[in-house]
Amino acid sequence: MFQQLPPGSAIISNTPIVSKYDYKPSLTRVPVEYIFIDKNHQLRSKAKTLDFIPTSLKDIPPLNLFLDDEQKKANEDLHLTLQQYQPVAMYDDPFRATYGGKLVLCESPTRKECKDIMDHYALLEPWFGMEQEYVLFDPKTNKPLGWPMHGEPESQGKYYCGVGAGKIFGRDIIEAHYRACLYAGITICGSNAEVTPGQLEYQIGPCVGVSIGDELWVARYIMERVAEDFGIIVSLHPKPILGDWNPTGCHTNFSTKEMRSVETGLQAIDQAIENMSWKHLEHIKVYGQDNHLRLTGEYETGHISVFSYGVGNRGASIRIPRRVALEGKGYMEDRRPASNIDPYLVTSIMMKSSFNYKSPLEQSISCIF
Ligand code: ADP
Ligand code: MN
Ligand code: MN
Ligand code: MN
Repeated sequence: MFQQLPPGSAIISNTPIVSKYDYKPSLTRVPVEYIFIDKNHQLRSKAKTLDFIPTSLKDIPPLNLFLDDEQKKANEDLHLTLQQYQPVAMYDDPFRATYGGKLVLCESPTRKECKDIMDHYALLEPWFGMEQEYVLFDPKTNKPLGWPMHGEPESQGKYYCGVGAGKIFGRDIIEAHYRACLYAGITICGSNAEVTPGQLEYQIGPCVGVSIGDELWVARYIMERVAEDFGIIVSLHPKPILGDWNPTGCHTNFSTKEMRSVETGLQAIDQAIENMSWKHLEHIKVYGQDNHLRLTGEYETGHISVFSYGVGNRGASIRIPRRVALEGKGYMEDRRPASNIDPYLVTSIMMKSSFNYKSPLEQSISCIF
């Protein structure tokens, strides 16, 4: 099951030509690229010029799309209430560096609930780190980047953290993305080639509360833009290539202040894992579309219908890294989320299940009885 593209489609981007248009920038007119997420979890963006230099998010006006009825009908995949275009996070724009440009992420419905939950538990100091895996596809062949026209590459085994021609495909892209994220102010903490040829990963975090979702969405945006420059497609499908190839996930690492302290660490981690174990199927519901194709119990995954956990176990739903067990403190890794998850939904449910969250409505009901 390859990434579906219209036949003969080619993505043309000419970055070397665009750089001819790098003028000495005006210092008082600043381009802002508003990023928003549509109903299909696809990223969109629109530029606006500000007549001043923004110093904080508060300076950024909401984006107004001003769609008339006909446009609204033609753009049903967009969230159409103005609420969706409220700025929530701002980064430096790595694609308009000399212009002092900004990337501004806008509100989305799942973020709002996530923020409420993270605010509710702010005293626990929740940290998250996400490992975004992805597969690069070449639109000219409709195959993963680096794959031969006919047949398949040599079976997996030599590609994870691969170095050298024939062992990593997409070095320029992963590298450009890394540097652009660092420039933007994204908390990118690493990147590596993955098990399947053409499959790569970058890691974001640790980030506090709702900001992990913001940073992952913006890191994904930067990846889309970088890949555009190379004429390459980014697939976040959990099992984009059938056969003996590792699927694609978004492991979500999680800790609280208690878990990071040597006095309470392992006990707090165990308790949160036990609380999460009762909610396995509810988690699976928000852990990505087509995740059943990935969580087969093979290829370093736990089976979708079973909850399991273990120290140093890459075949479990939740892994406690070996170093964490040795040190008695640290974090856990939820290995179930697929590459195409909404990070706001995943971090919300991890928080809710770990601490038996009751919504204000549920709290008032339990007071009555
Ligand atoms: P592996 O591939 O071995 O699972 P990675 O190095 O790819 O691990 O990713 C580790 C992730 O764990 C990173 O996203 C990092 O931000 C995150 N992380 C590290 N320490 C913590 C912590 N205390 N709390 C939450 N996340 C953490
Ligand atoms: Mn990793
Ligand atoms: Mn990985
Ligand atoms: Mn991992």
